[in-house]
Amino acid sequence: IEEQLRQAQKMDAIGRLAGGVAHDFNNILTAIIGYSEILMATLPDPRSRSHAECIVDGSQRAAALCRQLLILSRRHAVLPRSLDLNHVVRDMQKLLERLMDANITLVTRLDEQEMVVRADSTQMEQVILNLAVNARDAMPQGGTLTISTRALTLPDATVVGTLGMPEGTYVEVAVEDTGTGMSPEVQSQLFEPFFTTKSEGKGTGLGLATCYSIVHQNRGQIMVGSKEGAGTTVRFFLPTSYESPGRTGATDPGVRPTGN
Ligand code: ADP
Repeated sequence: IEEQLRQAQKMDAIGRLAGGVAHDFNNILTAIIGYSEILMATLPDPRSRSHAECIVDGSQRAAALCRQLLILSRRHAVLPRSLDLNHVVRDMQKLLERLMDANITLVTRLDEQEMVVRADSTQMEQVILNLAVNARDAMPQGGTLTISTRALTLPDATVVGTLGMPEGTYVEVAVEDTGTGMSPEVQSQLFEPFFTTKSEGKGTGLGLATCYSIVHQNRGQIMVGSKEGAGTTVRFFLPTSYESPGRTGATDPGVRPTGN
């Protein structure tokens, strides 16, 4: 609990600081990307065109970083609605396959039941994407990425206690890789914003902090199990929604964007 409180305070501070900056930067970057795309299309000389392309690439990376920061600071609009996480995973299949290196096999094992939660679909995609990218980066030699879903009622014999969540029904999504795994030291810092072991330009250290923030915004829990040399499994749990998927509604007292 103390750890969660510390984490929440840290997120709050980062949110206030970064949210404003990210918001303004995002607007500036939109202009930079737009104008350099025009340059890319109109410059006569190929060398200059490739320079313009570098500006577009760099700005797009910066814009992606801004988007992550905006999620962390909760300054973007969230649209919670009932959605089936099985559908979310299925819809992402093509994208995930394209993201994986050729020597990585993607396996999906989806529970036969509907996995309905109340959440923002873009946020759910973001969580799964971040976890899948981490899994890929942990398997430079290749391996298997397994994404599975299951329904579960807490307390449950397969998980310890109730994970600090109220007893009830939940949806679990597990993203498992057969990669490098992590040392206990790395594991203890995973969810810290800006903690990364990846080289400059490859990692921002915001992937798991973003996942943590999104899952907790939705009254869920996320946890990591990892063994060095064997692989890692990240699981997240979200409360089941009993509304049928697809219906929209903006009145969820638990999840609401703050700021502007
Ligand atoms: P980033 O991916 O930008 O480094 P993350 O917050 O997503 O930021 O991850 C933080 C660090 O946690 C990574 O740099 C890596 O060391 C470790 N990590 C995360 N996921 C995995 C995984 N599936 N296998 C091994 N290490 C991981």
